[in-house]
Amino acid sequence: MSFEALGLHTNIIRALTDSGYTKPTPVQEQAIPAAIEGRDLMVSSQTGSGKTAAFMLPALHKLASAEIVSYENGKTPNQERQAARSRGDRPRFQAAKPKMLVLTPTRELALQVTTATDKYSAYTRRLKAVSILGGMPYPKQMQLLSRNPEILVATPGRLIDHMESGKIDFSELQMLVLDEADRMLDMGFIDDIEKIVAATPPTRQTMLFSATLDGMVGNMAKRITNEPLIIQIAGSASKHENIQQKVHFVDDLSHKNRMLDHLLRDASLDQAVVFTATKRDADTIADRLNIAGFAAAALHGDMHQGARNRTLDSLRRGQIRVLVATDVAARGIDVPGITHVFNYDLPKFPEDYVHRIGRTGRAGRKGLAISLVNHAEGMHVKRIERFTKQLIPVDVIEGFEPKKTAAPARSAARKPTGWKPGDSRKTGNNFGSSKPGQRSFSKPAGAGNSSSAGPRKEGGGYKGNRSSEGSARRSFGDY
Ligand code: ADP
Ligand code: MG
Repeated sequence: MSFEALGLHTNIIRALTDSGYTKPTPVQEQAIPAAIEGRDLMVSSQTGSGKTAAFMLPALHKLASAEIVSYENGKTPNQERQAARSRGDRPRFQAAKPKMLVLTPTRELALQVTTATDKYSAYTRRLKAVSILGGMPYPKQMQLLSRNPEILVATPGRLIDHMESGKIDFSELQMLVLDEADRMLDMGFIDDIEKIVAATPPTRQTMLFSATLDGMVGNMAKRITNEPLIIQIAGSASKHENIQQKVHFVDDLSHKNRMLDHLLRDASLDQAVVFTATKRDADTIADRLNIAGFAAAALHGDMHQGARNRTLDSLRRGQIRVLVATDVAARGIDVPGITHVFNYDLPKFPEDYVHRIGRTGRAGRKGLAISLVNHAEGMHVKRIERFTKQLIPVDVIEGFEPKKTAAPARSAARKPTGWKPGDSRKTGNNFGSSKPGQRSFSKPAGAGNSSSAGPRKEGGGYKGNRSSEGSARRSFGDY
């Protein structure tokens, strides 16, 4: 299958060739023709499977073709604005009337979508895509909106502000995309999303992308789409077969730090992301690594947007080799040079593990994901294994052997038969906090259905609890 066969405009294909894309990924193969036809889509497909192009290419194709649509008095709204300006009219701020809106959970992801759009639209007339984000100076946002962009990429919160102050008018909106919809719900954006959807014309085309279509996100997807084509891409990508995963047990912090330093000197390492649980740890470890001679930098939600963008730019340009990041800040990072991901701390939620390791092995490359785990965290690893339906092998490096060997429950988990539903209770809860409102790993996740090992059910049960947790999660303040 080729991009030509999907019916895309030659100017778009030219841009893809420039980007080194030779053939569509499976999700693109299915989504693009249907989206060009105007169908609504509900898509679940793993990180790194090429979802951005799956919605942006058909959208650009349609927007570029729509150029022929004639406007009253033969001028496009932008030409009218220009004409008014050259007449010396000083019209009051006119609301931007985008044709396409892409909602994303984080600023980084929004910027990434905008960058990809610029790349894909290099040869399609002057289609403008802009990001409207929290943390961006207000005058800058006004300036971007005054250019009346065809494509708006935004995080829900900031968009609502502009809608409420009349800066954006969705009456001409043709396409609505929810990217990483599951994540937006995790972050407590459900009300904002509903409000935004309600402000768009019912005639719009809606495309929803998510790691899963189970539970709450599936319900929302059904509500806001109209006879959608459901595309579910499973297969090797969802198992991250191109990413080798390992656990190294550590005795204490100093053992962990020495091991990290050692692993960062691996000759096959090009660039790495080290995940920490807190912003402060991200800063501290980045500092420590810099002193040890690594080109390291931190990335977390407390940094100003400008600083975050600069850090990501340096990472892309290869000036930073080791990025030390918190979960939400690192989400959506798409840098092909990332060969290694380290879990300095394990993530709070098993699905974050999947997003973390997805920072490596981009576009089919190989990657290595290493978790540095305290013996007390064995259970936590098991939960991740249960979520991903994969066992993570334990490895030992010569000279860095842990004093303790793996806990007995842990060795049982290494056998191909995997975990047993009852195991968790034996070892008890040695990790995770139980602050009110926070999900605690001590509760058996599948209490009601622990005998069913199917990934859909597991996922469904897991996400089913979200509504009450969205706000708790939001208050972690990591994005
Ligand atoms: P997702 O949103 O599914 O996580 P992205 O859209 O971010 O995935 O794409 C992941 C990476 O794959 C990006 O670097 C992108 O440029 C690249 N990519 C996307 N489609 C193709 C393709 N058809 N051929 C080669 N690389 C691609
Ligand atoms: Mg994506």
